[in-house]
Amino acid sequence: MAELRDIPDLMRGSVCERRVKCGGPGCWCAKKGSAGHPGFHLTVNVDGRTRTRYLSGPALKEVQGLVSSYRRLWKLVEALTRVHLDMFQARRKEKE
Ligand SMILES: [Zn+2]
Repeated sequence: MAELRDIPDLMRGSVCERRVKCGGPGCWCAKKGSAGHPGFHLTVNVDGRTRTRYLSGPALKEVQGLVSSYRRLWKLVEALTRVHLDMFQARRKEKE
């Protein structure tokens, strides 16, 4: 419960690795058969639209932190839902 009183900065979404070609004609990634530069992207659906953002080094760490805060909070919400559902059920049985 204490965790809920102090909600951390969070963000829903998922971070995935995706290889991208930078577009530079002289770059090694332009060579045939190259998969491109390793890069991380954030994918999140907001208002029915999927947004994708490229994540640079410092942004990657920040976003990974935000996303994991979201997952932790969501687990807590699920746990509380189970607790309250059970309590509701128990009270009904007492009345019967
Ligand atoms: Zn390149």
